[in-house]
Amino acid sequence: MSERELYCDSCQGVQLFEVPPCEDGHGADCPELSCTGCGSAVLIATFRFTPARLADRRPVSRGHRRAA
Ligand SMILES: [Zn+2]
Ligand SMILES: [Zn+2]
Repeated sequence: MSERELYCDSCQGVQLFEVPPCEDGHGADCPELSCTGCGSAVLIATFRFTPARLADRRPVSRGHRRAA
């Protein structure tokens, strides 16, 4: 679960990325991934994007025109 396949620019192909040892205290939410092929690290900004606040049951207008 700490590995995922992503496109690596250095390898010019899809490689298996893994979360490198994190020393910043991110734990499982560490946004860093390193390519197992070349070792280059990438930062996944939206790796753990949790739209909890946005999806906070805001009133959704259901007044959309629906097929009668
Ligand atoms: Zn980290
Ligand atoms: Zn690579």
